[in-house]
Order: sequence, then C-alpha cells, then structure tokens
Amino acid sequence: MRELLHSLIEKNKYWTQYGNVATYIPELSNSNPDALGICTMDIDGKIYCEGDYNTKFTIQSISKVASFMCALKDNDINKLYSKISCAPTSDGFNSIVNLETKNSHKPLNPMINSGAIATISMVYGLTANDKFNRIHEFIKEVTGNNNLKINYNVYQSEKNTGDRNRALAYFMKSTGIINEDVEDILDVYFKLCSLEVTCKDIAHMSLVLASDGILPNKKRLLSKHICKTVKAIMTTCGMYDGSGDFAVSVGIPAKSGVGGGIAAVVPKKMGIGVFGPALDKKGNSIGGIKLLEDLSERLDLSIF
Ligand code: GLU
Repeated sequence: MRELLHSLIEKNKYWTQYGNVATYIPELSNSNPDALGICTMDIDGKIYCEGDYNTKFTIQSISKVASFMCALKDNDINKLYSKISCAPTSDGFNSIVNLETKNSHKPLNPMINSGAIATISMVYGLTANDKFNRIHEFIKEVTGNNNLKINYNVYQSEKNTGDRNRALAYFMKSTGIINEDVEDILDVYFKLCSLEVTCKDIAHMSLVLASDGILPNKKRLLSKHICKTVKAIMTTCGMYDGSGDFAVSVGIPAKSGVGGGIAAVVPKKMGIGVFGPALDKKGNSIGGIKLLEDLSERLDLSIF
C-alpha cells in the first residue's frame, strides 16, 4: 500500500501545474501549489501516509460536514429540512441565485456556503460562541486531534474579504432562514473554515463515517442513521458542482475545501484524507481528484 500511494503521488503531482491555489481569500494564495499528500486509515487500524501529508492547511469547506453532523445531532430532521434542502447544484459553492429564485428560499444543501451558514445557525448554542465551541469540540473528537487551532491569518483574511458570504447570510436573514445576528453567525463560519488540519485529521473524520459513527477507540460518536445521511449528501453535493463527475470517476462520498483538502469515505473500509492546494475551476483539488481516481481504480473502491 505504501508503495502504491508513493507511486500515485509521484504520478499525479503532474496535474498540480494545471490548477491554481485559491486567491479570493488572500492568505490562501501563500500555499505551495505543487504540494500533494495523502493519508489512508483502514477500519482495522492500518495507517499509510505519503507525500505532503504532514503539511497543515485550513479545513475550509470540509468543516461543513462537521457542522452538518452537529446540526443532525441537535435537531429533528424535519426541522432541519424546513431550513435547508438536500439537492445537488450545478452552481458554484458561493452562488446566491437559488436563494432568491427557489420558492422556499432555502439553501440547496448543507455542503455549499449558504447551506453551511444556515446549518451553523441550527446547531445548539445560546450564543454564537457556544455554537463555535460545540462544533470545534466535535471536530476535535471526529478528527481525533485535541489540538486543532484556528489559523488567525486565514481567519482575518477571510473575515476581511468574505462579502459574498455576508451577502448570502443577510439574504437568508431577510427570508427567515436564519434569525441570529448575521455577523455573529458568519464569525463562527469563518473560524470553522480557518481550523488547521493535516491529511491525517481528515482521514480520521472519514474513517468515523466509514465505520458508521464508531471512533477507533470503539466509542460511538454518531448514530448509523446520521452517518448514512451525511454520506448520501457528501456523495451528491460534497464536490460542489463537480459532484456528478466525481461520482463517476471516483465513486465514493467526499467533501472538498478550497484549502486543498478532500475527505473521502470508503464505507466499511477506509477513511482517506488528501491535500493538494492547486484547485480546478470548481474549487476542488486538481491533483487530489486525480490521485483519488487512480486509487479508486486500483483498489476498486467505487460504491457504484
Ligand atoms: N471559507 C470558504 C468560503 O467561504 C470555504 C469555501 C470552500 O472551501 O468551499 O468561501
């Protein structure tokens, strides 16, 4: 396995030249575009890491999976669906168009920016700070990393430039999807996106989903039903408007982030964390997708 991962990293580094690091959050433009790393954790406890697996990067949209898990734990599912749909989209991750044109004004799904901001508002907590602490503690548990910290440079950079997210959130306040102070909820969103992780952390999160909610120490963190819902939404919506292509070429539940991470779940088998900050036009790691395509092909991982 180690040799296989090593050779696939070497092969797929080639693709990083065809992507670009995110620049719309200025601090992310400092990432090394050539980096590519992977960590796999299988259900029997074997861990393999290759390439730039130790490099820290910000979790960005992969935090949306954790926020969604917390919201599912804290709410009746029908209450959640009264605020957020679970429909895939062919629009970009920060698109505003459907919030206005769809009759319900609900965000299309929890894996895009509007949906994640609405999800955070549904997480239990009397104050925004309580909500942040609740999700932060949960991410520590699901990643198995008690030391997860905010990258304050990325957080400030995102807070200073996050006007598209402000537009989404203010629109959702005007239609009653969120009720709290918009800036407070956005602050939680920006902080969550700015948590620093490695491939290992997101592989661990994926492993918990692969194990239907059981941590490696055998403690149950999530119900099987929640895991089923989360994996279904990851499969249909996790790679933004590239989710359909990814389902065909890789075929496993996954969530990407503009920091270059991809968390990918092979049900009942393995959790995978990939990092490659050069992104394709849809905001997904270009080398990361190619690497996962090859791995899926070689190990016959597709669920379809
Ligand atoms: N923090 C990023 C944003 O709001 C997250 C986007 C992403 O990773 O898809 O734009």
